[in-house]
Amino acid sequence: MKNISVIGSGTMGNGIAHVVAQHGYEISLIDIKQEFLDKALATIAKNLDRQVGKGLITEDDKKAALSRIITFTDLEDGVKSADLVVEAATETVEIKLDLFRQLDQFTPKKTILASNTSSISITKIAAVTKRPEQVIGMHFMNPVPVMKLVEVIRGYATSDEVTAKIMTLSTNLSKEPVEVNDYPGFVANRVLMPMINEAIYTLFEGVAGVHEIDTVMKLGMAHPMGPLQLADFIGLDVCLSILRVLQDGFGNPKYAPCPLLVNMVQAGFKGVKSGEGFYKYTVGSKDSVISPRFTK
Ligand code: NAD
Repeated sequence: MKNISVIGSGTMGNGIAHVVAQHGYEISLIDIKQEFLDKALATIAKNLDRQVGKGLITEDDKKAALSRIITFTDLEDGVKSADLVVEAATETVEIKLDLFRQLDQFTPKKTILASNTSSISITKIAAVTKRPEQVIGMHFMNPVPVMKLVEVIRGYATSDEVTAKIMTLSTNLSKEPVEVNDYPGFVANRVLMPMINEAIYTLFEGVAGVHEIDTVMKLGMAHPMGPLQLADFIGLDVCLSILRVLQDGFGNPKYAPCPLLVNMVQAGFKGVKSGEGFYKYTVGSKDSVISPRFTK
């Protein structure tokens, strides 16, 4: 593999482009507006600078990585010579299905099509293409340059050969790939989201407060961040939609989202991105305090 196209230059797309370019691959980064791409390039440059500052890479490495990234607003131009496409566009079923239908037309027959989706079925995405055996999940974690895991998700029809290629590529990107099968939530979110939901129920039922719940999990289970704070970072709307995917996918009431989570999302309290969730965040600062709604 030499040419890798990344679709979507948001939080995940710019992180994936950063890591892939840093490891010597040629990147075509695609988004719907040039301003999004310009912002992504600025973010990548800033994050590379941080690595230079820490002595992890040299200034020359940074320049070389940036020189390997070309941006496109035209999908066909951006993917026509790709060996691999990694789709990291907005988490909406219609957007993903539409993109994969087009990718099937615009890319050479041999091209592997991967999605970074957190919760949409790889099998469903693959089914809109004529090459389901070449469609696979490549689920990077946020922030991509820092987190080691890639959850490699095999759709129902994904071939052994394609899976092996993506496992090898992930290792070449200095990541630790883990192979999993395509069922709702894969492994990461199937285990994480019920824990977050249970933490919210624990708060909802008055068993303990925000600080107490997060402290138990940090100090007692050695989690770097408590589940309520983590939910704020992921986005409470994202947590809710993944719980709905688990609930619908398994038809099991144990995944039903806590009514407190539903209420908070309906009220616009989505965590860090909206300035308040279980904690209150100051824009431009890493400091947070427990939301006044949850203090006694
Ligand atoms: P984001 O909103 O930050 O970025 C999405 C980008 O996709 C935007 O820049 C948008 O303009 C672009 N886009 C939308 N439609 C497009 C199209 N048709 N063609 C090209 N670009 C298009 O979202 P994100 O957080 O980076 O998430 C991207 C994907 O990664 C989602 O599938 C999400 O589930 C998954 N994911 C997110 C996280 C996370 O923590 N944010 C973690 C793992 C996986």
